[in-house]
Amino acid sequence: MTKGPRHLSLTFLGATGTVTGSKYLLDTGDCQVLVDCGLFQGYKQLRLRNWAPLPLAPAALDAVVLTHAHLDHSGALPLLVRQGFRARAFCTRETAMLCKILLPDSGRLQELDAEYANREGFSRHHPARPLYTEEDATYALKRLKSIDFGDEFQIAHGLTGAYTPAGHILGAASLRVSGDGLPSVVFSGDLGRQNDLMMDPPAPRPAAEYVVIESTYGDRTHRTDGPDDALLEVIRRTARRGGVVVIPAFAVGRAQALLVLLDRMRSRRQIPDLPIYLDSPMASAVTELYGEHLSTHKLSAEELRTALRVAQPVDTSEESRAIDLRGGPAIIISASGMATGGRVLHHLKRFLPDENSAVVLAGFQAGGTRGAALARGASHIKIHGRHVPVRAEVVQLDSLSAHADREELLAWLASGPPPRQVFITHGEPDAAEGLRMAIQERLGWGCAIPEYRQTCELV
Ligand SMILES: [Zn+2]
Repeated sequence: MTKGPRHLSLTFLGATGTVTGSKYLLDTGDCQVLVDCGLFQGYKQLRLRNWAPLPLAPAALDAVVLTHAHLDHSGALPLLVRQGFRARAFCTRETAMLCKILLPDSGRLQELDAEYANREGFSRHHPARPLYTEEDATYALKRLKSIDFGDEFQIAHGLTGAYTPAGHILGAASLRVSGDGLPSVVFSGDLGRQNDLMMDPPAPRPAAEYVVIESTYGDRTHRTDGPDDALLEVIRRTARRGGVVVIPAFAVGRAQALLVLLDRMRSRRQIPDLPIYLDSPMASAVTELYGEHLSTHKLSAEELRTALRVAQPVDTSEESRAIDLRGGPAIIISASGMATGGRVLHHLKRFLPDENSAVVLAGFQAGGTRGAALARGASHIKIHGRHVPVRAEVVQLDSLSAHADREELLAWLASGPPPRQVFITHGEPDAAEGLRMAIQERLGWGCAIPEYRQTCELV
């Protein structure tokens, strides 16, 4: 006979001191559940954590529950499956559909990176190995189990879950976990904006004894004059110089927002008639997915159709190289959003040394990524083992981000009754500390910033 759950502990296996690697272990003594299973990105010492063994064998896990599809929340699932995880990975219906696009692509990119490193001989590991392959990722998709927003579902013995909308991107959710005789915990996941171009605001926070909240922009307030103006100006300036605007963009969320903004600018004749390329087959596929799920976001079918038409999709890597040869004026939207990999690297290699060109950083740039180095004003960055000088104009537009700012995070917290304790995660140290001070001053609630691999008993 199985014993009932006696206690609940929470171990922070990622998203501590960083916005990447979200991974939280809930342990009741009877069952062990992982909330989110994300990849670490950015600093090398963080990326090495992707190879660090979990405190328990993946085969012993009773379930994984994902909040959304971004790789820093879902991207380690294929590795977990490769290491023996065989239980279910719950997620919203839309997250499952996005994972089917994102995870195999992530495996393919890791294989390509390892191949490239071996061919060029710049990796310190011989041979360089991918964390997982496209085949591993495709196999891992079999574990996904779709859940509708609002439905209660059994995560594992004695633990129940329910998703509420978090805004942010298609399918993004906050998760409430509860169980008989156990304190309840709400995980915010990544929270979206109050006024997002595409997503509705996050639903009010469900009541719970404990809240785990992201703090990406915990120390910042976004500009309110709208992202359009700054983007418009940099496009006009760069076009006048005959340069290329390169926009590294997350394939899910930001790429679609950029297309919609550019489409509006073009139809109002605010930008010159220059070629716009969407060099991310994945972003094109995701945009179509937004078109198939109209009830889950704010855009109309017509807006999506015209937004897709504003850019020329670039399919093959030959076409991708051809747009580099062609030069400016032009706009290139390409993944990945923090320039950690993907086709955008080739465009950066080509246009960063060009003083007439510009790079627009449209989302949060995690520490240690090339995007963060550019935002900091680096004079050169390293791409594929080579130093590339930065002569292009670099513009950071936080207001284009899909993340709530400090005021929006506080408003979400205050939309539910006070918990016993708030855990602040998913932020770099200054951001987490900024949010901690604001919560204590404005709400007077107890909060803590957990350390990597710290375990807290929830009572
Ligand atoms: Zn996210």
